[in-house]
Amino acid sequence: MNIIQILVQKNIIDKEKAGLLQEEARSSGLKPEEVILKEKIVAEDFLFQLKGEALKMPLVQVAPKDIPLKVLELIPEDSAKYYRMIPFAKQDGTLDIGMVYPEDPKAQEALKFLARQGNFSSRVSLILPSTLDSLLRQYRTLKEGGTQALQELEEEIKRGWEDRAPSGLAELQRLVEEAPITKMVAVILRNAVEGKASDIHIEPTKDSLRVRFRLLGELYSSLLLPKRIHGAIISRVKILANLKIDEARIPQDGRFSTTIDEKAIDFRVSTFPTALGEKVAIRVLDPDVGLKSFEKLGLEGTNLSLVKEAIQRAFGLILVTGPTGSGKTTTLYAILRVLNKEGTNIVSLEDPVEYLIEGINQSQVRPEIGYDFPQGLRQILRQDPDVIMVGEVRDEETASLVIHSALTGHIVFSTLHTNNVIGVIPRLLDMGVDRYLISPSLALAISQRLVRRLCDRCKEKQDPAKGIADLIEKEMERAPLNVQKRAALVLGAKEKGVSIFIPKGCKECGGSGFSGRIGIFEILKMTPELQEIVLKDPSETNIAKEAKRQGMATMRQDGIVKVLDGVTTIEEVLRETREEHNL
Ligand SMILES: [Zn+2]
Repeated sequence: MNIIQILVQKNIIDKEKAGLLQEEARSSGLKPEEVILKEKIVAEDFLFQLKGEALKMPLVQVAPKDIPLKVLELIPEDSAKYYRMIPFAKQDGTLDIGMVYPEDPKAQEALKFLARQGNFSSRVSLILPSTLDSLLRQYRTLKEGGTQALQELEEEIKRGWEDRAPSGLAELQRLVEEAPITKMVAVILRNAVEGKASDIHIEPTKDSLRVRFRLLGELYSSLLLPKRIHGAIISRVKILANLKIDEARIPQDGRFSTTIDEKAIDFRVSTFPTALGEKVAIRVLDPDVGLKSFEKLGLEGTNLSLVKEAIQRAFGLILVTGPTGSGKTTTLYAILRVLNKEGTNIVSLEDPVEYLIEGINQSQVRPEIGYDFPQGLRQILRQDPDVIMVGEVRDEETASLVIHSALTGHIVFSTLHTNNVIGVIPRLLDMGVDRYLISPSLALAISQRLVRRLCDRCKEKQDPAKGIADLIEKEMERAPLNVQKRAALVLGAKEKGVSIFIPKGCKECGGSGFSGRIGIFEILKMTPELQEIVLKDPSETNIAKEAKRQGMATMRQDGIVKVLDGVTTIEEVLRETREEHNL
């Protein structure tokens, strides 16, 4: 029965009025409900109460803040908008869906399709159109992991400024100092820190100013601000970082520090001129995120002992490899902090200096004025160092100096661009390092990736699908004994059978199901056997053989033990170890 007929039946409107409403619905293409609300015949909640009674379906009230992101994402935003339906809770594989038009066959079809695709069953309730709209608005907000701060921001915008861009530097300067702009920038920064974003991008698009956050390695869109405040927002950030606000044609770098939630946070700012105007990228240097303690890196079992052993020695080169964003710097900082004791002179050469660590002499290279890695390294060696950290070995000269430093009684740490540990020695040879010098200097090669860590509050246990169970079993079968033991230890502590965990999402983790990241590692040690290979035939095949002989766990194997331990998901590990070599 049509809702208009229900109103007639309840004596709220007469048949004539009903006819007019039907006609309006037909001619306008609106739903009867929309026409009734537009004509203000009855209030929205009353109308939907009647509808619920007629459909024998409960009418639910849901607050946006109660919906975890993982649940919300089970129905794509576009489908939710178009079919007027939104998921609001999930229990034991059943998804609770709020629908405005549950009687609509097209919406029913769409839901069936999504349920098949997403492998869930659904339970439908009726919700008010206004509830749906406010939930849809939450979609973006939730995705950014921030909640209130963004609302504040939007209110600030609504309160508004003059509807035009400032003309001239003087007017820009005045605007930048005004409360809404300073407050807006503060809100963006606070939101990033509270949402645990690692980077903030403020970038002009054709007709707006977009703010994006990188969370656990992924970039999330987007808060859209009016384009007219582009200049003012960017200038405010530049003032904070002590950059020239009247220079927008060339890139500038700077940093600033501020206290958020009683925590001193550093922000590293870099500007970049684009065709659409200046863009700003801000790296959030939250010490809670970037300065992990040694124990929290994810080094376990044999890996942990190898690193501990190597840093006890008086000299030797430790190289960490992995792509950008794989956590190399975090690992190096964590190790440096272990070595950071009175009586040890630690000097670092970085590009750029990320976290400032009390007690370590950190120096920033400035290639543009001739102070590059080689120049800096020569200088460092005159500073009587015990431990040296060099940001990256990327040229022959740095490679040769790093090797030289390790040979002359220093512990040297650096990073190198190779996919895995097997490639480290060939890469050093490529950079012209003499093979006779590699065997006595190189102590450890570490390769790593970052995987997202499951939120302990909400992760859910699951029996793995057949394919996954097989994959895990196969990988463990060929893993070295020490890895098999670690896996058995993890499994022995639990009930029988392999189980893995999946992310769910709760308030604690902002609905993502994940909380922070952890490293997966592989570590190759210099042994007499490896020394011989380096001297005779350092091919990747021979080095891989030696890795196997050492009982080295590959990053994938290390990751799988972490999956069995419920630390991360199998998807995370497989994604990060796609290109992995098979030993
Ligand atoms: Zn959680």
